[in-house]
Amino acid sequence: MIIGVPKEIKNNENRVALTPAGVAEFRKNGHPVYIQSTAGVGSGFEDSEYEKAGATILPTIEAVYEIAEMIVKVKEPITSEYALIKENQLLFTYFHFASSEPLTHAMIERNAVCLAYETVEKADRSLPLLVPMSEVAGRMAIQEGAKYLEKPMGGRGILLGGVAGVKPANVLILGGGIVGTQAAKMATGLGANVTIVDVNLNRLRYLEDVLPANADTVMSNEYNIRQLVSQSDLIVGAVLIPGAKAPHLITRDMLSLMKKGTVLVDVAVDQGGCIETCTPTTHENPTYEIDGIVHYCVANMPGAVPYTSTLALTNATLPYAIQLANKGWQQACTQNEELKKGLNVVNGKIVYKAVADAWGLTY
Ligand code: NAD
Repeated sequence: MIIGVPKEIKNNENRVALTPAGVAEFRKNGHPVYIQSTAGVGSGFEDSEYEKAGATILPTIEAVYEIAEMIVKVKEPITSEYALIKENQLLFTYFHFASSEPLTHAMIERNAVCLAYETVEKADRSLPLLVPMSEVAGRMAIQEGAKYLEKPMGGRGILLGGVAGVKPANVLILGGGIVGTQAAKMATGLGANVTIVDVNLNRLRYLEDVLPANADTVMSNEYNIRQLVSQSDLIVGAVLIPGAKAPHLITRDMLSLMKKGTVLVDVAVDQGGCIETCTPTTHENPTYEIDGIVHYCVANMPGAVPYTSTLALTNATLPYAIQLANKGWQQACTQNEELKKGLNVVNGKIVYKAVADAWGLTY
């Protein structure tokens, strides 16, 4: 199968879908690989390294889409890429269809086969291609939150860990999955008082066991969240209902309960956000303020640490991409339930229920 890797063109997206090591793996399995020139530079990989591993470098994005049977990407195609996608072309990337109706319609119209990283699912319901980026985003959420809590950045001017004789900051984490757990690890490590809410009692039991004493767990419901927001300095949104829009756990009216300069980091913004007042921002302009509350809603947080993110992502995606190339998507998905769950749009039809439900389309 002919593999194509375009350069990511989303704002400040420096990750790349394949490393030179990945190219070597495809070549070992007999597949030609075409990489757009400078696609890996943002992650520290030069064209010459890809060539040494056996790839052919193409000068333009058009040339990559034209030749490839499978496009391997990081982020969903943006508007300028829609017209480049060919009928029956296999696209293996993050899509997050439930947060973009135009993207959903565009992929239906292009008659492509869209296998979404974020819905590839293991038997235990874990999402192996979301995990590495969630690990990065969860850890970053605290790093960014701490930065924007600084006064010159618009925050309350509170140090997460406090100092001797001064209380540390209160961090509220909505959702105790991968993002929430990694955020909790970082925040507790810095000495903050951490509260994690989740609807899954077993998950709360697990977190109670593994996290240090400066983390508490609380059942997620509107009553509890209303009480917690008024004491919080940093709130991290980290809920997920797979393939569906995130529920709004923080509503507009709750902003008035918060202290001025509270920072909200809505990591779930790529699924529509779990904070009602969050709209997607970019690394160039990451924050905005509503009623004195700082909102950080960057939809591609791991893009800011491309070296770590590219290696973490490709460690997880490559074994699946090799299966797709070796067997073709039909056979690979028939033989591997995990990959089958990744199919979202196939030749003009939505095949993933939560995406169809999100836009009232037939499934
Ligand atoms: P996960 O499935 O591991 O965890 C989600 C958690 O949310 C689960 O524990 C679930 O029980 C909990 N949850 C569901 N409904 C809830 C509710 N009403 N109240 C409280 N908790 C609730 O998911 P994850 O990997 O941690 O990802 C979280 C979000 O972060 C997703 O939307 C994901 O797409 C997003 N994400 C964003 C970025 C970014 O750059 N912005 C990067 C990675 C992941």
